[in-house]
Amino acid sequence: MTHLSYVNENTDAWQTYLAQIDRVAPHLGELAYYLDTLKRPKRTLIVDVPLVMDDGSIQHFEGYRVQHNLSRGPGKGGIRYHPSVDLNEVMALSAWMTIKTAVLNLPFGGAKGGVRVDPSKLSTRELERLTRRFTTEISPIIGPQKDIPAPDVGTNPNIMGWMMDTYSTTQGHTVTGVVTGKPVHLGGSLGRVRATGRGVFVTGLEAAKKINLTIENSKVVVQGFGNVGSEAAYLFNQANAQVVAVQDHTGTIFNPNGIDIKALQKYVEEHRGLAGFSGAEPIDNEALWDVEMDIFVPAALEGQITVERAKRLTAKLVLEGANGPTYPAADDILIERGVTIVPDVICNAGGVTVSYFEWVQDMASYFWTEDEINQRLDKLMIQAIADVWAMADQKSCSLRTAAYILACERILIARKERGIFPG
Ligand code: GLU
Repeated sequence: MTHLSYVNENTDAWQTYLAQIDRVAPHLGELAYYLDTLKRPKRTLIVDVPLVMDDGSIQHFEGYRVQHNLSRGPGKGGIRYHPSVDLNEVMALSAWMTIKTAVLNLPFGGAKGGVRVDPSKLSTRELERLTRRFTTEISPIIGPQKDIPAPDVGTNPNIMGWMMDTYSTTQGHTVTGVVTGKPVHLGGSLGRVRATGRGVFVTGLEAAKKINLTIENSKVVVQGFGNVGSEAAYLFNQANAQVVAVQDHTGTIFNPNGIDIKALQKYVEEHRGLAGFSGAEPIDNEALWDVEMDIFVPAALEGQITVERAKRLTAKLVLEGANGPTYPAADDILIERGVTIVPDVICNAGGVTVSYFEWVQDMASYFWTEDEINQRLDKLMIQAIADVWAMADQKSCSLRTAAYILACERILIARKERGIFPG
């Protein structure tokens, strides 16, 4: 996993977020008065999760739920199960959710949770027990009107189903709206699983049009082949782009004529990783950054595009499927080199957007068709990227700063209008 782990560039995830926030301050006028509210999380909960392992021993895991900002509505954001989860990371991820929900104008604040655990080392029964105990520990601060978790790296619809069931037990009745990304039979939404990858593709198409990049026959490289990366790769493949390299935690593969993504998906499902796939050549992990490409989709973890890698990257377009993949200093280099970056807070917002649709459907107990969901998703994403692009043109700034301007305006106007209690 070392090549996908956090690369220290003298700045951690929370500092990356703070640097992004600082860049927006000069554009906010009188609203900048309220900006400090975004420089700290509103509420932070650290929990101990004791787990009886299948062999009878007890292990303790550290879990978190951070509500970064609730000015515009209940907290919203995923739950990550990964060995590198810590408070700093969860704080940053919760803050990016605040910005993301505001860019899409969803009526939510931002939150995130996680447990420092390697889920691949647990049996299914252990995973269920861990999830149920963690849910119980954070249940005082979650709820359909308070804070609504969802999947993230290392979690999935089954885990959301256990969370919903456990929370419901504490309430004495079924509460489907407490989490999103649930299995469809438990109040989940059609289209949710594929929504994040779809959003990456849809915003990618819009950006490509703007910079006159033809998708057909363009070369795409994808880092991460989980829920987000595999769907984005599949959709680019369907649009006749060539996905020439893919990296996951088991290695990196390259095929200059394009990888058959459907075949790769099938292989990864069976082998839990792409290593050994016969439809491409294995290459060194670091060589990924030198592959000739038009579009790069980082869809793994944060802190991947360092200054040094930014100098090597040949892509014209970077689509941030992951949260926080680019260091601020690397951001500057890419922009200087004329690379267009569709930032995470819009590029990967398809997931939380369909989470919003799921929450609305749960509230109404009325469910939409997959077509309806995809149409609404595409419409919101296309509108959001058009708004961000217009702001970037107006302020002559990057798409990231433009997205932050739009989001911070919405959040800080809400803050101003609500006032500060007790005044
Ligand atoms: N974990 C996803 C994200 O980072 C989805 C969050 C959600 O659906 O609430 O955006």
